[in-house]
Amino acid sequence: MDTQILIIDDDEPIRDSMNDFIQMAGYQSLTASSAEEALEILRSYNIQVVITDIMLPGIDGLELTDFIKKEYDIDVIVMTGCNGDYSYEEAISKGASDFVFKPVRFEELLLRLKRVLRERELRKESVHMLEKLKKLSITDGLTNLFNSRYFYSQLKGEIDRSNRYNHPLSLLLLDIDKFKTYNDSFGHLAGDKVLVRLGKVIKSCLRKMDSAYRYGGEEFTVILPETVGPEAAKVAERIRGKVALEKFTNEQKKPIIITISIGATEYRSQEDVTEFVQRADKAMYVSKQNGRNQVSCLFSKES
Ligand code: GH3
Ligand code: MG
Ligand code: MG
Repeated sequence: MDTQILIIDDDEPIRDSMNDFIQMAGYQSLTASSAEEALEILRSYNIQVVITDIMLPGIDGLELTDFIKKEYDIDVIVMTGCNGDYSYEEAISKGASDFVFKPVRFEELLLRLKRVLRERELRKESVHMLEKLKKLSITDGLTNLFNSRYFYSQLKGEIDRSNRYNHPLSLLLLDIDKFKTYNDSFGHLAGDKVLVRLGKVIKSCLRKMDSAYRYGGEEFTVILPETVGPEAAKVAERIRGKVALEKFTNEQKKPIIITISIGATEYRSQEDVTEFVQRADKAMYVSKQNGRNQVSCLFSKES
């Protein structure tokens, strides 16, 4: 078990017997006789739970709890005498997870420790679940690229940044050529495989700050922050070329060429998100009209 407990008490016999008990219960534990010593230990060990006396020489247990809760992801159980100098409320308000009276009944301490560890586990699981849910909510299930909802929220963020700092921002819109024919010839499932492969190819052509999205059925978008139009056109050309070279095969292992048409455009200060996206779409249609498998650029409203 890799749970590490730190026991802090200036009373050596109490500290040692508590340490023995905690270790007999199957946990790894360390001890400190003061808050200062405890802070040293916290710097070098991965501690999950601190059990501390309140009355300590130097920094007291409540101050220590306050500090630990601000600096670390550690649960604290505080111990105090029955004289009423410190209250349960005080300890909890400093962030303590639990509170036990001295003389500590070890069995009770163990139950409280187990509960704290269990809650810790549940907390971790729920954070993990939330992260997973968040990822799901922004991801396209088929291609694993971001989805169109996330596209709009990211694009709005980038537009704000571009307007605020007057930095360039570009956008690509990509559409598979004659994809309906592909589906009709080889089936929808084979079409889906093409979409997955294309997602990977697009991603492989991007820099770290660029992001790719499945915008619609067989349409993709790429946001290129800090990028001027001609640079965006180069990225688009790189993607187009790589897709055209990618070897797709049908059920009979016959090689098939897939091509895409791309529209590239640069953001114009203060225009809204719809105008920006529509211009990329318009540029993409120019590529379609001119024979597909090409990149077209519209860098201003007028063009
Ligand atoms: P164009 O070159 O003009 O873009 O021709 P196209 O056939 O690609 O265009 P159109 O808009 O007529 O058809 C798009 C097709 O994309 C229709 C549909 O069969 C296919 N498609 C859209 N979404 C998916 C999907 O999720 N999976 C598969 N397999 N096919 C899809
Ligand atoms: Mg389309
Ligand atoms: Mg298409």
